[in-house]
Amino acid sequence: MTGCAFDLAHYGEILDAAQAGGYRFVVFDHEPEPRDLFLRHDVDMSLDAALVFAELEAERGVAATYFLMTRSDFYNLDSRPGERALARLRELGHRVGLHGVHPHAALDDRFDPVLAWHTPEPEYMSEPVDGVVNVMRPPWFDPANYRSDSNQHWRSGCPHDDLREARFEWLQLLVHPEIWVFDGATMRETMESLIAAERDVMLRKMGENRIDLA
Ligand SMILES: [Zn+2]
Ligand SMILES: [Zn+2]
Repeated sequence: MTGCAFDLAHYGEILDAAQAGGYRFVVFDHEPEPRDLFLRHDVDMSLDAALVFAELEAERGVAATYFLMTRSDFYNLDSRPGERALARLRELGHRVGLHGVHPHAALDDRFDPVLAWHTPEPEYMSEPVDGVVNVMRPPWFDPANYRSDSNQHWRSGCPHDDLREARFEWLQLLVHPEIWVFDGATMRETMESLIAAERDVMLRKMGENRIDLA
C-alpha cells in the first residue's frame, strides 16, 4: 500500500482490494445483493478527470456509474468536449446517470434511469423521483453500506481494508474523480492543481473557438 493518499495509485489499490475481496462491480439496475459494489462517480467539475478514471477502470475490467450534470457551473455537457466525454464513457462500458440540480430531474436519452442530486438538502435527498432510481434512497442507500470521499475526507475511513477483508455486506462507493486526478495533500491544494490544469484547457478552447492569441 502507498498509504491512503488521494491519488490514482491508491484509487487503483482500492479497486484491487475490492476485487480481492470478491466484490462484483454492479450498476443501479437492481436492489443490493451480497458482494455488490455500486461504484458511483459524481462529476462536479471536470469531465477530463472523469475520463482519466473511466480509462483506468476499463483497463481493470471495472464498470462504474458516472453522474453527469446538465446544469453544471463548471462544464457544458452540450458542448463538443461534453459530447465526446459522454460517448467515450459509453464506449468504455460505463453507465451514465444524471447529477441533478434540484428540482430539475429531466433525464433525456443520454442518461440511464438513475439520479443523484448535487449538494443535496436533507428535505429531498432521499425522496422518490418518478421513473428513476434515486441512489440516495433505500435500499441503495444505507449508512452501513456507504462510503464517500467528499472533500478529500472519508468520514468512516478509507474503505480499502474493509473491501479486501470483505467486511461490507455490499457497498455504494462514491468517489469524486477530481479529488484523485489532481495533485494535492489538501482539498485546497488539489483544487489549485485543477485550476492550473484548467488554464491550459481554456487556452486550447480559445484556439478551437478562433480566439486570436497571437
Ligand atoms: Zn486506503
Ligand atoms: Zn455534486
